Amino acid sequence: MTWDLLLAGGRTADGSPIDVAISKGVIAAVGPHLPRDASHISDITSRLITPGLVDLHTHVGPGYWGIDPDATAWHSGVTTWVDAGSAGAYTIDGLRRVAAGSSVRIPALLNISAVGLAGRTGESRDLGNCDVPLAVDTLQQHRDLLRGIKVRIDRDTVGDNGVEPLRRGLAAAETAGVPVMVHIGTTPPSLDEVLDLLRPGDIVTHCASGIAAPLGPAVHAAVERGVLLDIGHGSGAFAFDVLERQLAAGLRPHTISTDLHARSLYGPVFDLPTTMAKLLAAGLTLSEVVTATTEAPARALGLPGGRLVPGAPADLAVFTVHEEEFDVTDAHRQVRRSPLRLVNDLSYVGGRPLIPRLPAPVPPWVPLTDVQRAALARRERDIRALLATPLVGVEGLAEQFPRESEPRESRNS
Ligand SMILES: [Zn+2]
Repeated sequence: MTWDLLLAGGRTADGSPIDVAISKGVIAAVGPHLPRDASHISDITSRLITPGLVDLHTHVGPGYWGIDPDATAWHSGVTTWVDAGSAGAYTIDGLRRVAAGSSVRIPALLNISAVGLAGRTGESRDLGNCDVPLAVDTLQQHRDLLRGIKVRIDRDTVGDNGVEPLRRGLAAAETAGVPVMVHIGTTPPSLDEVLDLLRPGDIVTHCASGIAAPLGPAVHAAVERGVLLDIGHGSGAFAFDVLERQLAAGLRPHTISTDLHARSLYGPVFDLPTTMAKLLAAGLTLSEVVTATTEAPARALGLPGGRLVPGAPADLAVFTVHEEEFDVTDAHRQVRRSPLRLVNDLSYVGGRPLIPRLPAPVPPWVPLTDVQRAALARRERDIRALLATPLVGVEGLAEQFPRESEPRESRNS
């Protein structure tokens, strides 16, 4: 039998022992004590192993918000980056090029506005951009890439158009048989009007937003119908006090995503493990948090990964779980304590390890504080110092081309 790789001695989020064997890019076997029969064996004793994390709300497409996923994926365990509406019908080819050039998997949600998120906001103020037949055609032409529709509903995005962009997104999604992810924010249109339109399987992102604060009966009714709640942290859409009130009222997020983009990458989001720590701080268990970043988002979009089962793609993440408390911050500078810190040590996409990549420069339109600028400059200096130092001294070198032609006597003298 002999597998390509065996990750041996790990544990699952609920603490059970687990080994995972990989062959030809897929999970070949999973069990508590697999035979040590592989070309390579990686000892991950007592570390957490999960399916590669699936971040249901990110921005990696070209434009105002997009970031390079590879520079963050290798140290965060996120192997699937769902691009949530960076591209519309006019700009989908740019996103396709990003997806083809990345090490991670990039399924996407098509923005109902054909201009997508080339700019900061306002993409659905001109209803001429929200063309239902064009969106349906685009979904059908890019079935391999596109998993649903994204609609942003807030005052700045839609102007005077109310929920009409959402109605159009739902019409396109209904025809194509895919879900809609709706972003909520500043009103009008009212949150209840948005929630009442959603169908089972549709997703509300920014569900614990301090700006929209979804707490009324319409949220409960939506969840009872099968509408999914997604965190979508972002730079302005996650508030601890709102989440805590939701949890107290029996509303739990189904999926935990970052909304990682050019304005949340340098804080307050940073990465998905940091966002997971915030949900741990709010009282969710490690098992709940891992399910909400693997199986649940994969199921929401019908993606193949998200579970440690034979036959699944070998997308995996290995973490050291440090049992130490640390402070975490939401989008409104409210601070809580996380009981655990998750540090990603290894990640695989289709059985291939993700390797270190350096971050891209900050785009000139992204506002940063002086503290953020100083931290970025310090990180750049540290990276430069690390990479500019010769790797080894003479003690680490072999004589690769010995001077055999030299007379023996003179060598020994
Ligand atoms: Zn977003």
